[in-house]
Amino acid sequence: MIDPMHVATDVLVIGSGGAGMYAAIEAARAGASVFMVDRSMIGRGGATVMAQMTVAVALGSETPDHWTSHLNDTLKAGRELCNEGLAQLACEEGPDCIAEMDAWGVGWARRDGRIAQVMAPGHDRPRCVYVDFLNTGPAVSKTLRGVVNRSAGIRKAGDLLIIDLVRHDGEVVGAVGLHLASGAPVTIAAKATVVATGGLTRLYRRNSGSANMGGDGYALALRAGAALVDMEFVQFFPIGHLAPRLIGMDPIMWDPFRYKLGGRLINALGEEFTSRYGVNEDGRYVLTRDLATYAIVKEVEAGRGSPHGGAYLSFRHCTEEVLRAAFGPVIDRLAKNAIDLTKMPVEVAPIAHYHMGGVLAERQMATEIPGLLVAGEAVGGANGANRLSGNAVTEALVFGRRAGRSAAARASPLAAQPFSAPAAKAALDLVLNKGAAANGVTAGPNSAAMILALQAIMADLVGPFRTHDKLMHAISRIDDLTRELGERPFGEGGPFDTRRIDWFDLRNMLLVARAVAAAALRRTESRGAHQREDFPGMLSEWRVNQIVRWRNGALDVTSAPLRPPAPAVKEAAAVMAAGQ
Ligand SMILES: Cc1cc2nc3c(=O)[nH]c(=O)nc-3n(C[C@H](O)[C@H](O)[C@H](O)COP(=O)(O)OP(=O)(O)OC[C@H]3O[C@@H](n4cnc5c(N)ncnc54)[C@H](O)[C@@H]3O)c2cc1C
Repeated sequence: MIDPMHVATDVLVIGSGGAGMYAAIEAARAGASVFMVDRSMIGRGGATVMAQMTVAVALGSETPDHWTSHLNDTLKAGRELCNEGLAQLACEEGPDCIAEMDAWGVGWARRDGRIAQVMAPGHDRPRCVYVDFLNTGPAVSKTLRGVVNRSAGIRKAGDLLIIDLVRHDGEVVGAVGLHLASGAPVTIAAKATVVATGGLTRLYRRNSGSANMGGDGYALALRAGAALVDMEFVQFFPIGHLAPRLIGMDPIMWDPFRYKLGGRLINALGEEFTSRYGVNEDGRYVLTRDLATYAIVKEVEAGRGSPHGGAYLSFRHCTEEVLRAAFGPVIDRLAKNAIDLTKMPVEVAPIAHYHMGGVLAERQMATEIPGLLVAGEAVGGANGANRLSGNAVTEALVFGRRAGRSAAARASPLAAQPFSAPAAKAALDLVLNKGAAANGVTAGPNSAAMILALQAIMADLVGPFRTHDKLMHAISRIDDLTRELGERPFGEGGPFDTRRIDWFDLRNMLLVARAVAAAALRRTESRGAHQREDFPGMLSEWRVNQIVRWRNGALDVTSAPLRPPAPAVKEAAAVMAAGQ
C-alpha cells in the first residue's frame, strides 16, 4: 500500500482553467501560499483553453459602452433569474480583468490601435473582444500560465484528481486526491479551498467540452454540505458541428464564423427558418442560443432536418477572399477536411455546452460552508436561465480573481491549517480502496459502458426539451446505474487505472445528473434553457431559484426567493433608466 503524500498550504485551488489560474495568481499576490491542482495538465485541461472567440466586456474601446448596459443585456438574457449581484460583479469588473490580461500580453485583436470589439447575439452593441484566429482561449490560458509560472508562492500539481473535500467542525479544511500517474493518495490541508473545476457537459452524449468536465466541483461541494442553485439550466450550443467529418477542429467553431460573416441557417427544404420562431435573422447573427436550439430541434422534429439530424449552415454568400480575410489559416484547416464553404453548407445541431447552474455563492465567492469558495463555471446563478455569448470567460476571470482575494483574506489570520486526519479517513479509504482488492472485488461492471449509458440517458431524456415522463424515466435509470456503481471503487488502483478513474468520475456524474434531472422535474414551466414540452410558457410563480442539497444520503430540491439585487444594481438600474 502506498502511503499518502501530505501537502499543507494557505490556499488550495482545485482546477487550473481561467478561474483557477486567476484565483491562484490573486491569492499569491495577496501573500498567501497557494497549491493549485488539476486532474489534467496545468492550464490545459478544461474549457478555457478550448474557448474560441468571444469575451464580452464593456470596454467601450470602439463604441461607447458602460458596464450597466452589459448588465442590462445579461439580466434580460437570464430570463429574470440572474443572481444580480454576481452578474453585476462580472460586468463591472470584467473591463479591469481584460485590461490586466492585455498588460500581461494576451494579444487582444486591435483595429487602428484600439482593442477590437464585435457584435454577438443578445448584446446591444459590439462588446466582444477576441484573439485572432480562433485563438482566444489558448491565448488566455497561455498568458495566465505564464503569470502563474512567474508568481512566487504558487505550487502546482497536474494529474491530481480531487475526489472529496475534507470537512471538519463545519468547515472545509482541505481535500483528498488521487495522483493519477502513480495511483498514490494525497491529502491536502488548506486554510481556504477554491473549487474552480468548470462545468458538467460530459454528462451529455454530444458536448463541446473535454473529458474533464463531468461536474466534479458540483459533486464535491454537495457532499461537503454546500448548496447548488438552478441545476436545471444546461445551455445547449445550437450550432455544434454535425457533418461532414471534421478532424482537429473545435465543434463550436461555427460561432465565430457567424459573428464575423452572419451565415444562414437553412432546413432540408432550403428555407431560412428562424422567422418561423419569431426572429428574422436576415443574414445577421441575432438569434440567442436557447431560441436557436429550439428552432433547430423543432425543424428536425417536423421532418425538415438535414440528413444527419440538424440544420444546414451556409456561408455560400461569402467569397473566398472574404472568408480568408476573416479566418486566414482556419480556411486551410477546413480545406484539409475537404470543406469548401464557398461551395457547400455544413450540418450543425445543438450540443451541451455550458452550465448556468452551480454552487451557490455570494459576491466574495464564499459558499455557505466556511473555508469553501468557488469560481468560474462552477459558480451558479450569474447568468440565470440563459447565458449570453462571451460572458463565461469574463466570469471565469472575474470570479477567479475575487475568489483568490477572498481565500487569501480568510487564510491570512489563521495561524495553522485546521486539518483533521480522521475527517479525511473516509475519502482516503476510498482512494486506497481498502478491503476491495483483498476481497477480490476489483472487477466490477464495464465502467466505460456505464458512462456512455448515462450520457445517452441525459441526451435523450434530460436534453433541451423535457417532459414529466422523460424526466421520471431518467431518474429511475440514473438510480439503476448508481446501484450498479456500488459503494467501492473498481480497478486495481495502479498508475492511470482508467477503471478506478471512471468509478470516481461516475460517482460524481451520477450525483450531478440526478441533481439536474430532479431540478428539471420540479420546475413545471419553460424558461431559457429549460424547456418543458408539457409546461410551455414562463410562469411568474416560478420566478424563484431552486436549491439542491445533499441531506442524509438523498437529494433535496427546494424553491428559494431570488437573491435580492445588490444596492449597486439598483443604482445601475437608475443610471440605465436615466439613459446614461
Ligand atoms: C469549446 C468551448 C468553447 C467555448 N467558447 C467560449 C467563448 O468563446 N466565450 C466564452 O465566454 N465562453 C466560452 N466557453 C465557455 C468557457 O470557456 C468556460 O465557461 C470557462 O472557460 C470556464 O472556466 P473555468 O476556469 O471555470 O473552468 P475550466 O476552464 O473548464 O477549468 C476547469 C479545470 O478543472 C479541472 N478539474 C475538474 N475536476 C477536477 C477535479 N476533480 N480535480 C482536479 N481538477 C479538476 C479540469 O481538468 C480543468 O482544467 C466555451 C466552452 C467550450 C467547451
